[in-house]
Parts: sequence; C-alpha cells; structure tokens
Amino acid sequence: MVFSAGKTRFATAMKNARDLLKETKSQLPIDICRVAGLLGYAVEEAEIRWSGYVAANENVIVVKRSDIGTRKRFTIAHEIGHLLWRKACELSVKEKRLFKGRVCSEEEIIANKLATELLMPMPEFQKALQGYRHPSFWVVNDIAHLFGVSFTACARRITEHPDVLGFVYLYEIYENRMREYDLRAKKGYSTGNKLRFLTPPFDVVRKCLQHCLHISATWSGEIRFQKDEDQIRIPSVGKVKTNGHQTCVTLLGWRYLDSPVVSTMQANQLVAF
Ligand SMILES: [Zn+2]
Repeated sequence: MVFSAGKTRFATAMKNARDLLKETKSQLPIDICRVAGLLGYAVEEAEIRWSGYVAANENVIVVKRSDIGTRKRFTIAHEIGHLLWRKACELSVKEKRLFKGRVCSEEEIIANKLATELLMPMPEFQKALQGYRHPSFWVVNDIAHLFGVSFTACARRITEHPDVLGFVYLYEIYENRMREYDLRAKKGYSTGNKLRFLTPPFDVVRKCLQHCLHISATWSGEIRFQKDEDQIRIPSVGKVKTNGHQTCVTLLGWRYLDSPVVSTMQANQLVAF
C-alpha cells in the first residue's frame, strides 16, 4: 500500500513539474531559476562544501558558486525536485537547512528524476533526437548544449527515451602494481538497465583504444547485446580521452525500436567492428 501511495505522489510531483514547465512555455534551455521563482524560491550562489541546499526559512535555493554551469543547473533542478516531492507528500520544508549533502535515499532518486524531467522534458527531448538514427558524439554534445546539461546527463536521457534502446558506458584505464593495465567501469547506463554485453566490455574497449590511439579518431561500429530473449546489434561509437596518467573511454550507442536490425546471431559471435 505504501508503494502505491508513493507512486501516486510521484505522479502528482511529476504533473506539478510539467505544469511549471508550461508556464515557461518549455523554451530551451529551460530557465530553471524561473521555475524556482514560480515556486516562490530565489536562487543564490555561495561558496559551500556541497553542491546545494534549500534554505527553507528564507525561501532560497543555494548553489555552489565554483561549480560549472551545467552542474549548477542540475543542482537547482534537484532541489526543486525535493520541493515538489515534499509538496506531493504534504511534508514540511520549513526546517532550517534541508537536502544538503549526498544522502542516498529514495527521496534523492526521486529528486533526480524530477530534475531530469525539468531540464530535459521528454517531449522536447524526443523532438531534439528525432532524425538522428546513428549515434555520434557531436549529436549528444549538440543536444546537451540545447538543454543546458552535461554530456553524461544527455546521453543517459537517451537511454530513457521510450522508443530507443541505448547505452552509455564510461571506463577508466589505469596501470596496476604489476604494470598491467586494468579497466574500471566508472559509470554505465542502459535502457531499463536491461542491456547486457555479449562480450566482455574490455574486448570492446581494447579494440576502441587501438583504433582511437592509432588514428586519433572516433571508433564506430556495432556492439551486440542481450536484452531479455533477444540479441541486438546497436550502432555504437567510442572515444578515448587521455589527460596525464588517466585514460578514459566512453562507449555510446542507440537505435530506435522500429529499426529492422534484431539479430538472430549466435552468442559467441561477439562484436562487429
Ligand atoms: Zn538531494
């Protein structure tokens, strides 16, 4: 029963978020300070240790001054997410300082979901991605710029698009004590968290690395995944970034569900390059 009550409250909070966007006419990038203003909150910057908080007594959302612009926008949207959720649950926000720090709770996840909807409303996002049948880094960068969000936030939003299967994985490569190279998965998102590599990701990353380091370009090809009962080929791109001792590899791909490329290949045919 608690679960269904939570669902109803989330739906209410989401509806309230969309109503606020209507008032901004959903002009891009969403004027997130104006959205805060519509709720009666001002936005102020200060040099604080954490990303942001709500000073409820003063009706102010405070964000960290030294954070980059896209980070600040996300923080403000996240704090608005808290306010919308608290309102939907009829909980008070009249405490001195709320929502600071990085508490991993259900409310934080909900605040992030609401923040994502506020910054990248799905109908507008679908329009922006429309026509891009093949993944590329510049498409994601362009759309991220249009919505005023980070590259990763934008790539992650693609995995939430209802008509798309998509993924973004970020890996770090580092040298271990044996002077061997190890791979560490830093972040990874895929549609409904349901896509599974049909090959160890390291193989894909290694190919990508060889390709990119030799001709310093973007690798593009197809990666095969398992989703439920299906094996699926997803057009993919990869990029390597090296700064100092750290090397990062980003793999990204998406395909529309109506694309006629559901594979019937064997699981041991791993990656198509
Ligand atoms: Zn929070």
